[in-house]
Amino acid sequence: MELSEFNKVAHEIVDWITDYYRHIEDFAVKSPVSPGDIIRTLPEAPPPVGEPMEDILEDFKQKILPGMTHWQSPNFFAYFPANSSYPSLLAEFLTASIGAQCMSWETSPAATELEEQIMKWMIGMIGLPSNWSGVIQDTASTATLAAFICARERATGFSVNEEGFPPNRKFRIYCSSEAHSSIEKGAKIAGIGKQNVIRIPVDINLAMIPGELEKQIQSDITRGYCPLCIVAAIGTTGTTAIDPLLPLANISQRYKTWLHIDAAFAGTALVLPEYRWMIEGIELADSFVFNPHKWMFTNFDCSAYFVKDKETLVRTFEILPEYLKTAAGNRVNNYRDWGIPLGRRFRALKLWFVLRSFGVEGIQERIRKHIQMAVWFEKQVTQHPDFELMAPRSMNVVCFRYKPLQINDQNRLNRLNMELKERLNGTGNIYLSHTKVHDCATLRMVVAQTNVEQRHVEQAWNLIINTAASLR
Ligand SMILES: *Cc1c(COP(=O)(O)O)cnc(C)c1O
Repeated sequence: MELSEFNKVAHEIVDWITDYYRHIEDFAVKSPVSPGDIIRTLPEAPPPVGEPMEDILEDFKQKILPGMTHWQSPNFFAYFPANSSYPSLLAEFLTASIGAQCMSWETSPAATELEEQIMKWMIGMIGLPSNWSGVIQDTASTATLAAFICARERATGFSVNEEGFPPNRKFRIYCSSEAHSSIEKGAKIAGIGKQNVIRIPVDINLAMIPGELEKQIQSDITRGYCPLCIVAAIGTTGTTAIDPLLPLANISQRYKTWLHIDAAFAGTALVLPEYRWMIEGIELADSFVFNPHKWMFTNFDCSAYFVKDKETLVRTFEILPEYLKTAAGNRVNNYRDWGIPLGRRFRALKLWFVLRSFGVEGIQERIRKHIQMAVWFEKQVTQHPDFELMAPRSMNVVCFRYKPLQINDQNRLNRLNMELKERLNGTGNIYLSHTKVHDCATLRMVVAQTNVEQRHVEQAWNLIINTAASLR
């Protein structure tokens, strides 16, 4: 492809993108295709000779687009969002254009120094202690894995990195019964073992019970286990429940464990001063992760990982083969040593574009609006005789189910709600996902999409009550 043709097609693509966003609500939010529908349309082998860009773009529209779920649709209320925004998208054009691999300071000084500065901004924006350090990771799963490996190295005087596990050291990691699956995955990869992730019971608000945690730790110690790490969830994935950080932090101090905070989704709410109570005790923690790629309008992937002690992080991950030695050496940050992969994308640029384009107040305003719309939705649920709230709403996630007065059988209610979800998603007008709360099938209304407005939430509610009524 010649540069002149690139220029022509690039302009067409920008027009296509603009059109896509203008009409995004016309697409079925959740792709309606069945397994195998897309692969059937693809040739058995790659083309032996190059094809015109025109044909490739046409196939993108005809074959690929129907198999996409439209995460940027304002009618997307499922899972947690993977928000983008126009400024973020523009920055990704530039990142891809320069195509830098930002593993060390020397391989792109501006990428390193912008990341350092943006992470400082974020520390101020969300109220973390000012002496902490931050680094961008691909996902929260990776950040949590990094926390476990650092905890392991700190607890063993950095000897597992050198010699592998000592024979009689049995580590344990603690989290609530509601915690994310990435904790088990991290424990598997870090060599701790999934069976050594102990899930602590939760209270009526689905938050970890500190007394239960302490009992478990004491009993583990008497049986020869070594408590390694406590993971506190600020905003669980099911219901955005908030573990009580200060009591958990005091326990982590008493038993000298690492304290990691998983705020993957809800961390963004900390830009609002009225939510800072959620991290009371943060100065006693060791690490914290949240995903700007969920609720902070920065397109996937961009996970912000913060640590109290960057020396432990770097000592755990650093490598220095001859071919990576540079003149700048230790006077700069070499982010390859702050996490698992060597190669790194320039992710700070999109965060910089987002923060500058929205401004802190612009972000606060939109987050508050999301929460207010969720409050409205919650009110509809509680006032409707055939619906009920399944968990307390802490922010912008409403957990609810359809429960007509005359139906009390739990299995029947579970089936009814799963059917309601399928029907709703089948309309293409809305996309919801579910969870289990106290073993009951529960629908989640996540009001967090970048461009969602009150009218979308109202349309969603009307569709839900009408579809539910038609089920009977
Ligand atoms: C989404 C989520 C994760 C995983 O995030 P990734 O960035 O996809 O790895 C972890 N913890 C919680 C609480 C989450 O909501």
